[in-house]
Amino acid sequence: MSTYSPHRTIAAISTPSGVGGIAVVRLSGPDAFRIAACHVALPSDSRSHRLSPFRIGDSLLDEVVVTLFPAPHSYTGLDTVEFSCHGSLYIQQTLLQALLDSGASMAEPGEFTRQAFLSGRLNLSQAEAVADLIDSTNASAHRLAISQLRGGYASLLAQLRQQLVDLTALLELELDFSDEDVEFADRHQLSSLVAELQRNVSQLIDSFSLGNAIKRGIPVAIVGKPNVGKSSLLNALLADDRAIVSPIPGTTRDTIEETLTLEGLTFRFIDTAGLRQTDDPIEAIGRDRAIQSVRNATVILFVRDATEPYSGTFLDEVSQMLDGISQKEKIMFFVHNKADLVPPPYPPGHAISARTGQGLDQLKQSIIQAVRQRMDHTEGVMLTNLRHREALSHVQQALDHVEQGLVDNLPADLVAIDLRDALHHLGTITGQVTSDEVLGTIFSRFCIGK
Ligand code: GDP
Repeated sequence: MSTYSPHRTIAAISTPSGVGGIAVVRLSGPDAFRIAACHVALPSDSRSHRLSPFRIGDSLLDEVVVTLFPAPHSYTGLDTVEFSCHGSLYIQQTLLQALLDSGASMAEPGEFTRQAFLSGRLNLSQAEAVADLIDSTNASAHRLAISQLRGGYASLLAQLRQQLVDLTALLELELDFSDEDVEFADRHQLSSLVAELQRNVSQLIDSFSLGNAIKRGIPVAIVGKPNVGKSSLLNALLADDRAIVSPIPGTTRDTIEETLTLEGLTFRFIDTAGLRQTDDPIEAIGRDRAIQSVRNATVILFVRDATEPYSGTFLDEVSQMLDGISQKEKIMFFVHNKADLVPPPYPPGHAISARTGQGLDQLKQSIIQAVRQRMDHTEGVMLTNLRHREALSHVQQALDHVEQGLVDNLPADLVAIDLRDALHHLGTITGQVTSDEVLGTIFSRFCIGK
């Protein structure tokens, strides 16, 4: 169980574990300044940016730089002190222990950010964006996290949500006048607002698979019959010798995955086992995995051997692989490998040679461009967080009910139930408190005495 309390003053080492030039120990909460003052002279404006002795009792532990962030101008929104000490593990740990001995509590994972949320510095979705920002390993994931941190779609949803809250409040007001058969909430306005919300929600849900892929690395499945040169293509793309290349069909029995960052996008290239009917049980498992990786891939490279006759069987195989998979969501390329052995013309697609490198740059560029086009298509609003996705699915369901209720002319109280359900789930994204909120809205419009 969490030991969290808003009155806790917490401390932790904020730099990575290990030895570095310097380390930062952070202390935050209502007692931060008092606890810090047990060990260092708190810097005044005239004495900032200097080394100060950090003492434990009479003994000097280290010379540290003390940075004070008085509330509310700190990351957590509470009084915060950062100690930059020398990076020895001993110093870091002893300093932290001294703060704990003087009354601080050991921070739980993410607790500084949690303080920031509870003190209203960040909403939930922004707090999650901080984690994404720390995790971001490429320019695109970084951009998504920054946009979420700055509000992103949460502010769009919050706006729509506020309008819904207002209308729900009016709807609930009708209940108080149920004898009089009045309508405060304009049903037409309500249904167009619900429709707008539905559009936004489904657009966001649709963007999840790409958003998630950008965050984790865009999966590119390399598929095709044995010996067409899939492993060679992977190697050529990575320009190293990760996959085993051999002239014996069926060498790649499992999937091999490698990440490669191209122009700020991280790709996970997945070399799959050859696609052919087989009696070898291990190879069959590999084949199943190949089909699975096609299912999960954002980009699929269908590779064939250009020296073999281009026949309907290739396209048959492709459609067999895609059986039951929505092609709308996939970016697909036909790749005719071993073009070094065959003169043009080539069938439609990319003629390449994994051996000589011919056509590889163009293939990479086409992949990057296709992904960028998809990203542009979402107009920069992209869902990357599974929790938000789940919440939005609930919102969608609840709004379906609201829409149906409005069509069926259901009484206000029934529609209000579904609306509140939608509001609740929307509110879980940014962490707004939902209970009593509708009432709160009604009363916030009135001042006492008016
Ligand atoms: P996989 O089973 O589809 O992964 O195929 P491999 O990458 O293991 O390649 C099968 C054989 O084709 C190997 O002998 C490779 O050296 C050869 N090969 C692959 N790509 C090319 C190419 O572009 N040109 C030529 N000439 N040979 C290639």
